[in-house]
Amino acid sequence: MQEPVPFNDLKLNYASCRNEIDAAVQRVIESQRFIGGDEVKAFESEFAAFCRVEESVSCSNGTDAIMLSLRALGIGHGDDVIVPGMTFIATAEAVVQVGANPVFADVEEARATLDVENLKRSLTPATKAVIVVHLYGQIADIEPIAEFCRENKLYLIEDAAQAHGAERNGKKVGSWGDFTAFSFFPGKNLGAFGDAGAMIGKHTDLVRKVAMLKDHGRQEKHKHELVGYNCRCDALQAAVLRVKLKHLPEWTKQRRAVANRYLREINAKDRLILPQVSSGSLPVWHLFTVRCQQRDQLKQYLSERGISTGIHYPIPLHQQPAFSEKDGKLSLPVSEKIAETTLSLPVFPEITDSQVEYVIESLNGWGG
Ligand SMILES: *Cc1c(COP(=O)(O)O)cnc(C)c1O
Repeated sequence: MQEPVPFNDLKLNYASCRNEIDAAVQRVIESQRFIGGDEVKAFESEFAAFCRVEESVSCSNGTDAIMLSLRALGIGHGDDVIVPGMTFIATAEAVVQVGANPVFADVEEARATLDVENLKRSLTPATKAVIVVHLYGQIADIEPIAEFCRENKLYLIEDAAQAHGAERNGKKVGSWGDFTAFSFFPGKNLGAFGDAGAMIGKHTDLVRKVAMLKDHGRQEKHKHELVGYNCRCDALQAAVLRVKLKHLPEWTKQRRAVANRYLREINAKDRLILPQVSSGSLPVWHLFTVRCQQRDQLKQYLSERGISTGIHYPIPLHQQPAFSEKDGKLSLPVSEKIAETTLSLPVFPEITDSQVEYVIESLNGWGG
């Protein structure tokens, strides 16, 4: 057997920029400025430039980025917010955290992102907003979704926790939503050394509002204009993120090269469904997911060959114990089918050509 293939290897990622990161962390330690300050401001402006917008607001994590966006939009008790059934639970948790009600809609099979027709059927008189998730790093069918939101005067939030820098028809993620939320959880495409997140938004006044909300409702030290939160991104995380952000374009290129090899060379197409990239889309491949009827057997087979895989996600949100009392009877057939059949293959910038080859060979040699 050849060397094992991990699902991801953050140690290798650190090793690839260790000197820069160590210097950045040391700089913050010497400054003893851990909350706010220049490091955080610099990261916010560099991340904004990456997103091709004027400003970004950093915060504690991706979940809080969604929650703060909802708060800034005034969404709360009595409001419905439509979210896809196939996503990480954080998307819906943020809705509950502001006192609103998540309404689960089904996803489309090709991309596992919000299905426009299902979205339309999920509209209620209480619907105030839609959260679209760019799952696995590919932008959802965003144009008709944005159009539907405009027609029905709904706010649109993009959950881009898995999609830093993804593009569609030349536009970057964040081009459509009133707010767009990012996560810098260590395993995301841009990962901190702990929890961190950020938001960008279309409306300058509301962006200022989230900037206040995440810092005790203030702009000035002793003047609290709103009752807010302590949801800040600290300077150590900002310093690490500044280093990694410089490398992100090259890491994304490497992810794309791996994904393109998988797409070209995996030929077990009678047994595996490969991800479909819609024309005009440039995914960032946070995850490369295949679908397979015998998913658990395939996972086992790959594991025996030393290849680690993941499942994103085995339980759709409406069937999660946390929501099943309210939504257990709901039927979201596509989300359910994806949950049963999806398998995520290793895709990370440092994976070697021979490891990629071995994954492909193993898949092609699988007897099913
Ligand atoms: C990771 C993730 C989040 C939450 O981000 P955290 O930084 O872990 O709070 C939200 N939505 C999606 C789709 C995610 O993958």
